[in-house]
Amino acid sequence: MGAKTLTCLSCAQLNRVPEEKLSKGPKCGSCGAALMPGKPVDVDPATLQKAVQNDDLPLVADFWAPWCGPCRAMAPEFSKAAKALGGKARLVKLNTQDHQSTGARYRIRGIPTLVAFERGKEKKRQAGALSQGQIVSWLRG
Ligand code: ZN
Repeated sequence: MGAKTLTCLSCAQLNRVPEEKLSKGPKCGSCGAALMPGKPVDVDPATLQKAVQNDDLPLVADFWAPWCGPCRAMAPEFSKAAKALGGKARLVKLNTQDHQSTGARYRIRGIPTLVAFERGKEKKRQAGALSQGQIVSWLRG
């Protein structure tokens, strides 16, 4: 059985999780936070970068800002998608108002923008608000 590397989204510690435990509520060995929380987690730029570089599972980042109406409208859909994608991907949110240089670093031109990362690379991106079903099929497509 293989093991997956997952970056703790709370403390940024790297964890090795046996594949068979991914669906069983694995926790960070350092801080005890859920590694597969089943809901979007707010991350800072350093944690996002570390997770992008190290994670063995797909990572989907929602670049958003509190002043953006479509972003707020999409938030509950993004939460439902995180639940639907359970042990297959992790969803995170990055507040581009608090972290403006990160939006530039990832070449975010409009928000909300979803960026899917896999094994250290950007796999795809999508600008504009999506429903839960659209998020899930976009990621799988
Ligand atoms: Zn942790």
